Amino acid sequence: AIELVDVTKTYGHGRRVRAVLAGVSCTIPFGAVTVLLGPSGVGKSTLLRLMAGLEAPSSGVVRYGTGIEPRRDVRLVFQEPNLLPWLTVADNVTLGFRFALNRGRADFGLVAELLDRLGVSELAEVYPETLSGGQAQRVNLARALATRPRLVLLDEPFAALDPVTRRESQRWLRELVAELGLTAVLVTHDLEEALAVGDQLILLGGQPASVVGWWQVAEYAPDELRRALLNGYGM
Ligand code: ATP
Ligand code: MG
Repeated sequence: AIELVDVTKTYGHGRRVRAVLAGVSCTIPFGAVTVLLGPSGVGKSTLLRLMAGLEAPSSGVVRYGTGIEPRRDVRLVFQEPNLLPWLTVADNVTLGFRFALNRGRADFGLVAELLDRLGVSELAEVYPETLSGGQAQRVNLARALATRPRLVLLDEPFAALDPVTRRESQRWLRELVAELGLTAVLVTHDLEEALAVGDQLILLGGQPASVVGWWQVAEYAPDELRRALLNGYGM
């Protein structure tokens, strides 16, 4: 598991200082999907950047399981696929390998398997401009997974997708977690998505933010969770 212990984050200094996170503690268990919820601006993306090791907490610690090194083993996926337009899908997916440290050559078997599993293998040789939003996001995830991360952090990855594609995407995310033993943290504003995909839900609230709700999905009826979440948002 990855453990956050009393993590705070403050930006700026002097009179301009702004505390974003105040004493966030939680555990991200391996092999499960943790959904991170909370109102806009509460600090969800900030927390992901801390988990990814892209920024250091102002105080507190992010404790990774043994053998996990954030630069090598953690990948962050954003809402925008940001594929490189001058490279084919296959080259986009193998790019991470070529540039990530200590990686050597791409594992083409794994790349083919990922594209296949995500239903985009026939698109390997096309260029990103011809992809739909849903397809581009699958390629984006394949690119992240091709480096065999232990933890993927997904920041509203499906927010720009139509409802049907979004449902499908939730399904393949669940499949990947089950089949690859992946650990994922998913940020979403969609309560139904949270209930459909999450094994545990963590709700951030307050300013500066801390954990104001934490539920194991299997222990509650969906209606109970829906009510608890809406209540947590102050609705
Ligand atoms: P949203 O749901 O809209 O994506 P969020 O929960 O992801 O919101 P963050 O992007 O983490 O929120 O931002 C939390 C707060 O931290 C915001 O008030 C933002 O202005 C502030 N913040 C984030 N990064 C920085 C930074 N580098 N410098 C100063 N302030 C920052
Ligand atoms: Mg955000």
